Amino acid sequence: MNHASSPASLARPKFLADEMLGRLAKWLRLLGYDTAYVSGIADRDLVSLAEAEDRIILTRDTSLILRKRCRRYIFVRSDHWREQLEQVYREAGLNCESMLTLCALCNSRLQQVEKASVETRVPPYVYHTQESFYECKNCARLFWPATHVSRILEELSSIREES
Ligand SMILES: [Zn+2]
Repeated sequence: MNHASSPASLARPKFLADEMLGRLAKWLRLLGYDTAYVSGIADRDLVSLAEAEDRIILTRDTSLILRKRCRRYIFVRSDHWREQLEQVYREAGLNCESMLTLCALCNSRLQQVEKASVETRVPPYVYHTQESFYECKNCARLFWPATHVSRILEELSSIREES
């Protein structure tokens, strides 16, 4: 990663994913990392947005990095979201401590809600097997720690132990 040496780079990183990286953006939000995702905007606007909001650009486009002289970015090497997530996790020094704090769809804050209040809003199997539910106050989508999510997070945690 290309670091600008400012105090902000020591804080919890925020990201801006380009339009090829929508799935990666959702996963970073599931991990609790503020990740903006924009599509259909000019490269120039993408770069100014990242600088204005102190976000690290995530892109698969080397020409964008070179032409626009991006200051903070991660060049994402793989086409596959699992490898993309592993790369960003490793290079940006992420962790799994704040998972399920941000909405995977709209990047807004999640709040834990009473289990009883979601009974009619989730499938019966989910209701009976899960204890914790989180709701997005912006788009009203519900989240819970599904098993496939937990498994991927466990794999990510083990990356840190290896490296
Ligand atoms: Zn939302």
